Amino acid sequence: MTAPLTDLNDGCRMPLLGFGTYSIHDPEIFVQAIDAGYRLLDTATRYENEQEVGQGIAASPVSREELFVTTKLPGDAHGSAGPRRELTASLGRLGLDHVDLYLIHWPLPRIDRYVETWQAMIALRDEGLATSVGVSNFLPDHLDRLVAATGVAPAVNQVELHPYFQQAEQRAADQRHGITTQSWTPLGRKTDLLDQPALAEIGARHGVTAAQVVLRWHTQIGAAPIPKSATPERFRSNLDIFSFELDPEDLARVADLETGERIGGDPRTHEEF
Ligand code: NAP
Repeated sequence: MTAPLTDLNDGCRMPLLGFGTYSIHDPEIFVQAIDAGYRLLDTATRYENEQEVGQGIAASPVSREELFVTTKLPGDAHGSAGPRRELTASLGRLGLDHVDLYLIHWPLPRIDRYVETWQAMIALRDEGLATSVGVSNFLPDHLDRLVAATGVAPAVNQVELHPYFQQAEQRAADQRHGITTQSWTPLGRKTDLLDQPALAEIGARHGVTAAQVVLRWHTQIGAAPIPKSATPERFRSNLDIFSFELDPEDLARVADLETGERIGGDPRTHEEF
């Protein structure tokens, strides 16, 4: 089983559900995830596992053309020259000649170089080093600036999104620009989200787990989740969400879980380099 594909605003297509790789360093896990049906692998220079992701891709019998590889530009490479230098280094570690999606990891508004950085990302796309380019953690006003300056909207905006932090305004802003919203920390890592009784009750009606309810919710509100699990039983079931559908009442109950609180950094102030 593989995830269905979703259309991006640049004519490309991306798996609707992918494999988050943060903190995984064993190439064999990536081989197993691909074997389980995952086709999208989400890494970043900052995760320091691009080499292991590349080893997993090389060891898998699934061909490179069937896979969708995302990596991300680190904060210390903002500017006009950084993206080329960093993507070249990422491709070397991954052992690939292109990635399918290259994202600016954080906007770093205090540094205020993300527009210049975006121009360089577009050039990398035009050269084919990245098939699609996008951003991560960009707020509505950051997106407006990119589009006003370049006329090119990111294909994807990867943001924190889970039932505790549902991002309605951000999703609407992404949608206005035709940007696909991709959900990081989709299962609410480090919180009690998956213990919520409402999720167990909804899951019992459909014969699925709380995690499967949450991941299906993402896809039904138009977001593309990238759950991380290093546990084969869990990562197999996380992908198995396309044979049931949440009804409007289920969706409303999940919506009721909103607390409005982030787990990760606030893009207005968060800095990592
Ligand atoms: P997450 O996917 O919400 O949660 C991961 C945690 O949930 C792990 O501890 C995992 O445990 C557990 N888990 C997974 N499936 C489960 C299941 N079916 N039942 C119970 N527990 C389950 O959090 P995340 O890793 O923070 O986010 C996912 C991915 O998003 C990352 O790996 C990364 O690729 C990306 N990300 C991007 C950004 C960004 O700034 N762009 C920031 C954070 C994350 P086990 O591994 O032990 O199974």
